[in-house]
Amino acid sequence: MADEQDKQLKEPSASLVSRLEAAIGKENVRTSKMERLLYSHDLAPLPNLTQLGFMNVPDVVVRPKNTSDVQKIVQIANEMGVPITPRGASSWGLGGSMPVFGGIVIDMIGLMNKIIEIDPDNLCCVVEAGATYKSVYDACLAKKLLLGSYPSSFPSATIGGWIAKDGVGIGSYKYGGPGMNLRSMEVVMPDGSVVNTGFRDVSDNSAGYNLNALQVGAEGTLGIITKVTLKLYPAGEVIKNVAYSFDKLVDIAQPLWDITRSKIDPLHLAFSDGAHFEFLRKAGKHAPEVGTILNVAFEGDKADVEREEAIVDAIVAKYGGKKMAPEVGQHEWDERCYEFRAREVGLGAIPGEIVVRLKDFKPVTEKCYSLLNELKLEGAIIGIMCDRNTVMFMPYYFLNTDSLLSLMNYSYNKKTSDLAYLHGGRPLGFGAFFASNLETIRGKDSANHMKAIKNALDKKEIMNPGKLLEMKTRYGIGLSPKIFEMAMDGASIVKKAIPRQHEFEDKADVYEAERAKKGHDGH
Ligand SMILES: Cc1cc2nc3c(=O)[nH]c(=O)nc-3n(C[C@H](O)[C@H](O)[C@H](O)COP(=O)(O)OP(=O)(O)OC[C@H]3O[C@@H](n4cnc5c(N)ncnc54)[C@H](O)[C@@H]3O)c2cc1C
Repeated sequence: MADEQDKQLKEPSASLVSRLEAAIGKENVRTSKMERLLYSHDLAPLPNLTQLGFMNVPDVVVRPKNTSDVQKIVQIANEMGVPITPRGASSWGLGGSMPVFGGIVIDMIGLMNKIIEIDPDNLCCVVEAGATYKSVYDACLAKKLLLGSYPSSFPSATIGGWIAKDGVGIGSYKYGGPGMNLRSMEVVMPDGSVVNTGFRDVSDNSAGYNLNALQVGAEGTLGIITKVTLKLYPAGEVIKNVAYSFDKLVDIAQPLWDITRSKIDPLHLAFSDGAHFEFLRKAGKHAPEVGTILNVAFEGDKADVEREEAIVDAIVAKYGGKKMAPEVGQHEWDERCYEFRAREVGLGAIPGEIVVRLKDFKPVTEKCYSLLNELKLEGAIIGIMCDRNTVMFMPYYFLNTDSLLSLMNYSYNKKTSDLAYLHGGRPLGFGAFFASNLETIRGKDSANHMKAIKNALDKKEIMNPGKLLEMKTRYGIGLSPKIFEMAMDGASIVKKAIPRQHEFEDKADVYEAERAKKGHDGH
């Protein structure tokens, strides 16, 4: 594997590097081996074996200072036919911001992270695409203005990254996802032109093709978002999260049904099972000893929040749930963006995000558990309501990247996506991992329609190639859904055959001993 890595770390093209340096400054063009390796994966740590299939180490990493720099980089990439991969905080896990064919990684979080303006008169803010959700949220709240929704990775996730991925997150239930919370974007297109997708102060209704919608969820395959105008809302008097406990995760199916069918409009509905809290406790974190928690966050003026809370209290009581102490609700809210703290024991945590119909909550929950069990994975289930009928399950499992066998664990993600199809849903997003799924998810004609848009806008296929539209290896060979399926089925057979590992338990023990020692030494 070291040979394979060295092959990937061949010297980048001198002419590419010198053109980039002349365009945006030598200090913003990085070619050291260490930096290139750092930018070769995203949240999901990848076994080195991946490099046999994908050239995931970039040749060059660039840090633009402004839109003009991004434009120059894209023009050079276009002229030289070099792939370019946009990257925010790289906190997504399907290889979206990981290069597949080497080339240029464009780091949007480094220098393009400024809040340009907060405008209370027009209820909007203008920010650079690399600004983190948290920085924007905090700055707006200080002016009594609320950002509608944000991912639970908001301390690090960038505005451009979440829009490009079109995720679901905190506040999506009430205010919609990232696409519903923006007015306009500035995007550098694959030919280097700069496009404004909407209007700063007013909505984009009746204004021709919806260019905002075209970029939302494009996963950086149609251009690089450089600036965004986000909608803002007046902040209410209160944001209050209430935690309700239940014995088992399936027990919350009916309460969720009643809440979503009532006229109340909570900010956020989220759930976590007992295994999730157990992992946290084993990793030394404070977490309740409970079978399942349903969190309901209310937002608005005091009287509205009290009225909605009373309605949810009654629904929960009707189905045998218990209202927990206010401190638990507050703790859960404070921790809403740190659900993977148990990784601190020294393992990766891989989520398998799927969306399904709410009416299928029970069978999907049961199957997610039985798959974790069949594949002998140490995992748990958390999730949220995306809207009144869409539930996002995020089962996750721990993964040890030092072990080649860990690759087999990814078959869980394929199995859960099959489960989602059965229940009117799908996995969330494509990236590199699910790029062969486009036709399965959208149907042949819609998939071809999307490919035609890509071909028209990115003739040289330089913009984040090998993602979303087609899974391709570093040799340019497309991987059909059949091959992907066979590979994943094979992986699941191997995983079932090998003895159950207790890596989390083992690592947690070592971690606990180390912490005890540090405590003993006074560190
Ligand atoms: C603890 C944790 C919690 C999470 N919670 C959520 C959640 O609640 N909801 C959710 O949806 N996801 C969640 N995620 C996944 C991920 O954090 C989000 O999708 C996040 O918005 C990605 O932002 P990023 O800046 O890290 O983007 P990256 O991971 O860097 O990139 C994501 C995609 O966008 C593209 N991209 C990045 N920047 C640009 C740009 N400026 N222009 C064009 N394309 C671009 C990349 O090429 C890639 O395809 C979570 C992850 C973690 C680790």
